[in-house]
Amino acid sequence: MPDAISMPVLFLGHGSPMNAIEDNAFSRGWAAIGRELPRPRAILIVSAHWETEGVFLTGSEAPETIHDFYGFPKALFDVRYNAPGARWLAERAQTLLGTSSVKPTRLRLDEGRGFDHGVWSVLRPMYPAADIPIVQLSLDRSLTPDQHLELGKALAPLRDEGVLIIGSGDIVHNLRVDFRRAETPAWAVAFNDRAKALILEGNDAALAGYESLGPEAAASINSAEHYLPLLYVLALRRPGDTIRFFNDTVFAAISMTSIVMSEAA
Ligand code: ZN
Repeated sequence: MPDAISMPVLFLGHGSPMNAIEDNAFSRGWAAIGRELPRPRAILIVSAHWETEGVFLTGSEAPETIHDFYGFPKALFDVRYNAPGARWLAERAQTLLGTSSVKPTRLRLDEGRGFDHGVWSVLRPMYPAADIPIVQLSLDRSLTPDQHLELGKALAPLRDEGVLIIGSGDIVHNLRVDFRRAETPAWAVAFNDRAKALILEGNDAALAGYESLGPEAAASINSAEHYLPLLYVLALRRPGDTIRFFNDTVFAAISMTSIVMSEAA
């Protein structure tokens, strides 16, 4: 029996892992969204930090917390986000993705994989009780951007099954610009603004075709893993959905711009 309401879909600009433990404008923004949204039955999240050949879903009922970074304080390495997994959701998503015309080379559950910081750095502030089951979907780097967009469409029924789908990345992400420096290049702000305008227009073809959007896009999406999760979110838009931006800030060459896509009230 589908839920009466269609769940919102989120894109979260995650930025630094420190947002997991700092009380700052970004973590407060995520916490506010967590309080505002209808409580999900489970979460399906695609993060920039699980790049694979083939499509994988976390299959464990108790995934571990992965600390996939260096040079941060011990307090960050001490974080454990012990939200349960959801085997039923992993299997359901596997079935749905299997219907996609994309036909990934592999489509499997990974029993051993835990949650990377693209998952827990945003979900810890958002759902501090860690009591909502989570499944992570990998980012198949053998797919084209158009294929990521197409694959995401197969997940649409989950919105009617109480599942909150989240893309976790950054619209602009180029670590060649030192993010500890204050200066923000003009191209980073320009591309973030352009992407937001295209999102409001619903121009998914242009957003998936970012390689044709010129030098500002090329500099902002130099390695793409932080941008591609956005395409899964755009893929799930329905007629009548509204778009709201929050945490809408660019610093250095990282955009924290986040999106709530939801049915109009
Ligand atoms: Zn990241």
